[in-house]
Amino acid sequence: MTIHRGGCHCGAVRFEVEAELTGLSTCNCSICGKSGAIMAFVPRDKLRQTQGQDAQTDYQFGSKTVHHAFCSTCGVRCFGTGEGKDGEQWAMVNVRCIDDIDVHQLEISKRFDGKSL
Ligand SMILES: [Zn+2]
Repeated sequence: MTIHRGGCHCGAVRFEVEAELTGLSTCNCSICGKSGAIMAFVPRDKLRQTQGQDAQTDYQFGSKTVHHAFCSTCGVRCFGTGEGKDGEQWAMVNVRCIDDIDVHQLEISKRFDGKSL
């Protein structure tokens, strides 16, 4: 597994994620549709926030099962976290926030139908 580092635009929030950048998805739910994230889903323990634990605002809506954190200064959404029905802890990382990534080279293989949830 490769460790990728990334962060928000202003630099307050930094993270590391252990993941291969395959099986990426976009989502048509009410928040992803507006914020345009390209996401990699990983087990929660593969994501480490290395900076800015106090720099984020948590945002929840609907069933409030997912934490859609965003940087309180620049507004960028680096990752979200949640819990599956069977209790597994997961994170969705916005791969657009990974350092030096060329978003045009990313292959999006899944269109997650969050709108229907
Ligand atoms: Zn920021």
